[in-house]
Amino acid sequence: MSVSNLNNLKLYESFMDSYTRKINEATFNVPFKGVRIGNAKRTRLAQINLKSKIITFSRYAIENVPERGRRYLVIHELAHVIEPSHNKKFWALVKRYEPDYKIIEKQLEQAFVKNVKQANYNEKKKIIKNDPGLFSVAEDLTLSFFKNESVASGGFVKAVQLKFEFTEFI
Ligand SMILES: [Zn+2]
Repeated sequence: MSVSNLNNLKLYESFMDSYTRKINEATFNVPFKGVRIGNAKRTRLAQINLKSKIITFSRYAIENVPERGRRYLVIHELAHVIEPSHNKKFWALVKRYEPDYKIIEKQLEQAFVKNVKQANYNEKKKIIKNDPGLFSVAEDLTLSFFKNESVASGGFVKAVQLKFEFTEFI
C-alpha cells in the first residue's frame, strides 16, 4: 500500500471515529470502542465486533456516498450492540432514527457498488500505465482473436481479458 493510501485510511479512520461517537451520543448511547477502515469490496459494507465493540467500515461505503447513507450505516451498526440479529426488534431500532432506512440503504448500496467499480477501474488504469505494451496490444485488438490467428501467447490473452474488463468501465 502506498503512503498516500495509508494516510487516507488514517484520515477516514479519525473522521469516522468522531462521526460515529457523535451519532452514538445523539441516538443509542451504547458502549463503543472505535472504528477501523477496511477495503472490503464484496462483503458487508460495515460490521461491528460485538466483543471488542469496534466497527469496521469498508472505505467504499463511507467515501463518495450520500451523507444520509453514511449516517444510516453508523446507526445500523450501533443498533447491533442492542440487537445482534436482523430481526423485527432490530429494524424497529433503526427506524427510530432513520424512518426511510429501506430507501437510504438502497442508495448507499448503489454508491458502494459505484465506488468499487471506480476503484477497480483505477487499479486497471495503473496496470496499463505500468505496462504500456500491454495497453497497445489491448487497444489494437481486432477480430483476429476470434479468427484464431496466432493468439497463443499468455500476454495476448491477458491483454484480451484486460480489454474486455476495461471496456466495461468506459
Ligand atoms: Zn446488520
